[in-house]
Amino acid sequence: MNIENLTIASFKKGLEEKTFSVEEITEAFLKRIKEDNKEIGAYLSVFEKEASDRARRVDEGIKRGEALKNLTGVPIALKDNMLLEGTKTTAASKILKSYRAAYDATVVRKLKNEKAVILGKTNMDEFAMGASTENSAFYVTQNPYDTSRVPGGSSGGSAAAVAGNLALAALGSDTGGSIRQPAAFCGVVGMKPTYGAVSRFGLIDMASSLDQIGPITKTVEDAAIVFNAIRGKDSYDPTSVEKEYNEDITKPDFDEVKKLVIGIPKEYFIDGLSHEVKKGVEKAMGRFKKLGISFKEVTLPHTSYALSCYYIIMPAEVSTNLARFDGIRYERTKDDVKNLKDVYFKTKGEGFGAEAKRRILLGTFVLSSGYHDAYYAKAQKVRRLITDDFRKVFEGVDVILAPTTPTTAFKVGEKKDPLSMYLSDIFTVSANLAGLPAISIPVKKYIKGNGELPVGFQLIGKHFHEPDILSLGMLYEKETS
Ligand code: GLN
Repeated sequence: MNIENLTIASFKKGLEEKTFSVEEITEAFLKRIKEDNKEIGAYLSVFEKEASDRARRVDEGIKRGEALKNLTGVPIALKDNMLLEGTKTTAASKILKSYRAAYDATVVRKLKNEKAVILGKTNMDEFAMGASTENSAFYVTQNPYDTSRVPGGSSGGSAAAVAGNLALAALGSDTGGSIRQPAAFCGVVGMKPTYGAVSRFGLIDMASSLDQIGPITKTVEDAAIVFNAIRGKDSYDPTSVEKEYNEDITKPDFDEVKKLVIGIPKEYFIDGLSHEVKKGVEKAMGRFKKLGISFKEVTLPHTSYALSCYYIIMPAEVSTNLARFDGIRYERTKDDVKNLKDVYFKTKGEGFGAEAKRRILLGTFVLSSGYHDAYYAKAQKVRRLITDDFRKVFEGVDVILAPTTPTTAFKVGEKKDPLSMYLSDIFTVSANLAGLPAISIPVKKYIKGNGELPVGFQLIGKHFHEPDILSLGMLYEKETS
């Protein structure tokens, strides 16, 4: 069975026409994982037996005449910061290395209801802090397009799994770009939904006012299908919202889509943008123009403050969220400890990696009484200005098009100092600060092994206007494939 050309949409068709069974496809993916995961390192854990059993049960249901749902039998991977009852959930941290989830995240419950087959949990930067998976406490994931390069991060394992045909789709989480940046590096599609569109219940928090769960898939259509399955209000996440759409968002009316106006923000086409990325994004713009879409130049004047603003607000929230890993709740230290200080040194001191510690320290500093107003409070004001920039621009355009990343995938070990790593997030953090939906789409179909590295472009939409960015993406995909 050739799983390389399979998409969620074509998989469903295959099941309907009985071209294959869920079990056959699941086994094909499990075989691939066995062959290739050693090199790629996309998964931290694989549920071989559970996935096979589940696939068989789903097939039985189909035989009994159960209606096919959009994700019935779809072999899917989960980033290791989402809880799946009874299984290890480490967030790629030593501090949670043998922690087992006590319940299902809401997105997991939804995937189970849809009868998806969960293949395993994917590698990531520790607690989702990073842009390369090099901050994983366990191992570095490799980019399937060039194994000497990183897959991006923090959802690098999920993006590499989809790009390397080790899963048909995956879920990632995005706090400052962690779905879109690895998707761009691995030549796949990744969408960060509007803040509140998808429940965060059962996601291990990084920075709660920025985190969102979203799909990583081979096509935009597949991203729309997965998003539709996981979105919606959840009583366990008070920040979640139900949004009704007039039409089926997976089947847009392309004549209407062509009327959307795209804004090009000049602040995103700056000096640090690499030649390959610039060329790729221009190519994407050219294709949209050919399709008859109109463009406007726009300005988001506070863009240059976004990264600094993010690297104050995010660590502030990280420092409070990570306080719960205190060696008493969750994993308990088994060593002989004499007092509370000892417990902290044994657990936090040894359990957290360097990046997690750096952010806890930074966050504690910007929240401390003497510095709160100078840093945290000021950053919150800047966040408002950034959000207002978007609000103004969206009065004149429907969608914003920009690069996803300043460069293509970099080499493993290339970015040694943290600041140069943080710069990878320059084009993605604004959408998180403003809570807007954003998707990264590969400029074209890339072929592995010919030396060319994938480039992604980004579409940012208005709050809860996922259909705009998805339908434009689907139009692009339809016309370019
Ligand atoms: N690379 C960014 C960071 O290190 C984004 C992380 C994320 O989105 N989880 O914070």
